Amino acid sequence: MARYTDAVCRLCRREGQKLFLKGDRCYTDKCAITRRSYAPGMHGQGRSKVSEYGTQLREKQKAKRYYGVLETQFRNYFELASKKKGKAGENLLSLLETRLDNVVYRLGFAMSRAEARQLVIHGHFTVNGRKVNVPSFLVKPGMVIAVKEASRSLEKFKSSVEANSFRQPPKWLEYDAANMTAKVVAEPAREDIDLPIEEQLIVELYSK
Ligand code: SF4
Repeated sequence: MARYTDAVCRLCRREGQKLFLKGDRCYTDKCAITRRSYAPGMHGQGRSKVSEYGTQLREKQKAKRYYGVLETQFRNYFELASKKKGKAGENLLSLLETRLDNVVYRLGFAMSRAEARQLVIHGHFTVNGRKVNVPSFLVKPGMVIAVKEASRSLEKFKSSVEANSFRQPPKWLEYDAANMTAKVVAEPAREDIDLPIEEQLIVELYSK
């Protein structure tokens, strides 16, 4: 399972906005965007004019980075999204939202998608009663995601439930905090996804 392992704050600085990749730190004044809000590298403070291609590329990079997905996998999601009915860009975001690591993050069990990914890999979650430790697993309407029985007493999960007012789960997930379970009640719609991504630019990029 390939993943990005370099300093993640550089990614935010490159995109010129917070991508919330580090959990707690992102909400403090230690955030690199707060301290150095220019692109990394020697010419970081000198870049200004961006071409149409550059704008589309940045939007795609931003989406990949939000969800922690590498290029090949992202491209595969796009191919899948293009084959579905409806707008390819919205389908793409909807697919990305249904990744199991994103669901764990959305439910508030992790402060970042990277942390959620680790929790999934360590086998703390089940889908329809069976352990799933694949972060890219795509959930579908009707499926029930749960914290594994043996993990429910862990301080990590108990405190997540207590602090869950921090992040309200989206309405396509019916969350039962008492039982640490959530049912997928619909496919995520565009208005359920609060990320500032202009998905049409990604479609234009891949349509060239
Ligand atoms: Fe991005 Fe968070 Fe690093 Fe700030 S602290 S630059 S939001 S990853």
